[in-house]
Amino acid sequence: MKENRIYNFNAGPAALPLSVLEEIKDSFLNYAGSGMSVTEVSHRSKWFDDIINDAVTRTKRLLNLGDNFHVLFLQGGASMQFCMIPMNFLQNGKTADYVNTGTWSTKAIKEARIQDKPIKVVASSEDKNFSYIPKNIQFNSDAVYAHITSNNTIKGTQWASFPDTNGIPLIADMSSDFMSRSFDADRFGLIYAGAQKNIGPAGVCMVIVRDDMLELVKETIPSMLNYNTFAGKNSMFNTPPCFAVYAVQLVLKWLDETVGGLDKMEELNAKKAGLLYETIDSSDFYRGTAESDSRSKMNVTFRLPNEEMEKKFIQKAIENGFGGLKGHRSVGGCRASIYNATSLEAIEALVDFMKTFK
Ligand SMILES: *Cc1c(COP(=O)(O)O)cnc(C)c1O
Repeated sequence: MKENRIYNFNAGPAALPLSVLEEIKDSFLNYAGSGMSVTEVSHRSKWFDDIINDAVTRTKRLLNLGDNFHVLFLQGGASMQFCMIPMNFLQNGKTADYVNTGTWSTKAIKEARIQDKPIKVVASSEDKNFSYIPKNIQFNSDAVYAHITSNNTIKGTQWASFPDTNGIPLIADMSSDFMSRSFDADRFGLIYAGAQKNIGPAGVCMVIVRDDMLELVKETIPSMLNYNTFAGKNSMFNTPPCFAVYAVQLVLKWLDETVGGLDKMEELNAKKAGLLYETIDSSDFYRGTAESDSRSKMNVTFRLPNEEMEKKFIQKAIENGFGGLKGHRSVGGCRASIYNATSLEAIEALVDFMKTFK
């Protein structure tokens, strides 16, 4: 551990690569010879243009996106997308399918219904406290899109592979597993991710949207809520969150150049999660809360024999330099969020601690 930093298992905002933080620190007062901080340069300057264009280019390369995709940087978090998606794509009585796999899916459904959009919930895992990912889902042929949450940050479940929608464009909230693995992006009409879980600091949400989805936006809607506004202006209709975009750019550069791309990242993430689940499964002291074929490689949720023991575990962990292991306040228990920036070394140290604590 460098610079007295702890092993950070926060769910979000979460750990960032140390090299990225150091690069930000080193260039903070004088960005690229500009004589200004990156937080002081104009978003209309060449400096910022280079930053946002590099972030877009790297995103397209990492995800293998064709020219029919737009990469946007929006504000309002992933939560804003819950309302923008139905507002933009479900005009004139159109419908969409939603799969409910937890807290965030539930919120996405609520925001569509607030707008009186006739959406259908085609599958849900609420019957077992969202501990699994539904299988064999029948999607409706008149759905404009099928919305899923690719990784359920709070419940600790993740789609191992994406459902067959019979050609209906998928829309995924990938906030907590974006850029953690490679996948076929062509099946997606839109992907969104709040940056603060896996790709940067809070303050920006990345949205990847396909051309044919943008053509669905017909009715007049307020400019700030219309995808076309941002797609037509390289995300600079108004002042973007410049610093957050800059930090995202550096994280993407790290993924691309230091890690070596998404296949490498996926391999490492599988190894990290594997170590933790092995530790949980090989004891009768720790108990995983997600069904094993639905387990998340990003958020490992587990319980101890009782709540008192859990409190003690979290306390002892803090004393030993492990932060963020408390489960979400809505579910209790323990959770280790092990996003891209959490090192294998951090996982090995946690595994040792768990064995000793037991
Ligand atoms: C954290 C999270 C959100 C909420 O993100 P905000 O940027 O705070 O709005 C939405 N969906 C998922 C899956 C999340 O993990």
